Amino acid sequence: MLDTTFLNHVNQDSEQTLQLCYHCHKCTSGCLVAEDMQYGPDQILRMVQLGEKEAVLQSADIWICASCETCGTRCPNEIDIARVMDALRQMAYTENIPVAEPDALKFHKLFLFLVQNMGRMHEASLMGVHKLWTMNLFSDLDSGAKLILKGKIPLIPHPIRNRQQIKKIYEAVNKPSVSTQPEERGQPGE
Ligand code: SF4
Ligand code: SF4
Repeated sequence: MLDTTFLNHVNQDSEQTLQLCYHCHKCTSGCLVAEDMQYGPDQILRMVQLGEKEAVLQSADIWICASCETCGTRCPNEIDIARVMDALRQMAYTENIPVAEPDALKFHKLFLFLVQNMGRMHEASLMGVHKLWTMNLFSDLDSGAKLILKGKIPLIPHPIRNRQQIKKIYEAVNKPSVSTQPEERGQPGE
């Protein structure tokens, strides 16, 4: 079933104008993970334009996207597709759509937890806890060990001093927002 309000909601949440996309395919041809996606970024945008909400929010593509922003820099219409993907993930999560890539959701949650509690990312903690949580213990051990030996991944975390400020940011963004209330969003064509 098509949702005629979907395009407006995604535009609103991502602060983009997806009607500008004319499907030149430049975003997908530059996307480093497009091969692992079912649709790819330009087709996801097409589906949003058409109101295919269910298929988009159930798609693994929105979780496979690594938010690298390559697509946005290639887009002739300056559409920030990484931001669109972010809005779609948030929408899927808020609406309790089963996540097609649960390990990616675990990654997002851990990332936010570490930043909330330390004020910055600590890659070794993220890697270790994510491996335990997903029971994916032995993948990438070689590259992980090399990065640690080269000093690229510090083993000891160094939290920032004023973590209260980070806490305040989290409290502010976790406040219910008007744009997350479907009945209060703009109507199609507005
Ligand atoms: S590069 Fe921009 S205009 Fe081209 S398909 Fe992707 S989003 Fe659409
Ligand atoms: S932001 Fe996502 S969709 Fe865009 S190029 Fe990077 S991985 Fe691909």
